[in-house]
Amino acid sequence: MARSYRKKPKFQTSLAKERIKELFMQAEKVWAEEPELSHRYVELARKISMKYKVKIPQSLKRKFCKKCHHFLFPGDNCRVRFRDKKIVITCFDCKNIMRYPHKK
Ligand SMILES: [Zn+2]
Repeated sequence: MARSYRKKPKFQTSLAKERIKELFMQAEKVWAEEPELSHRYVELARKISMKYKVKIPQSLKRKFCKKCHHFLFPGDNCRVRFRDKKIVITCFDCKNIMRYPHKK
């Protein structure tokens, strides 16, 4: 029997959140072998976040570039610096600089 939902049920959004976390974990895992795949995982996570209207957690947002949406791996394709209670991330792929408040 086919069912259609007007609203996204709660279990779907929590599943989406899990999926996003998982994708970032995978992206980190495959980075050394296949960085292109890592970028793909980020893209997928972003799509899930948009489709289900769930936010990507702050901690995961720092793991990809806001501009080119590439997965960021500190020391490899980005630089992470702490300055004035802020985290400054520079993406080497598009030279974008992102600043995040550093919460203690
Ligand atoms: Zn970038």
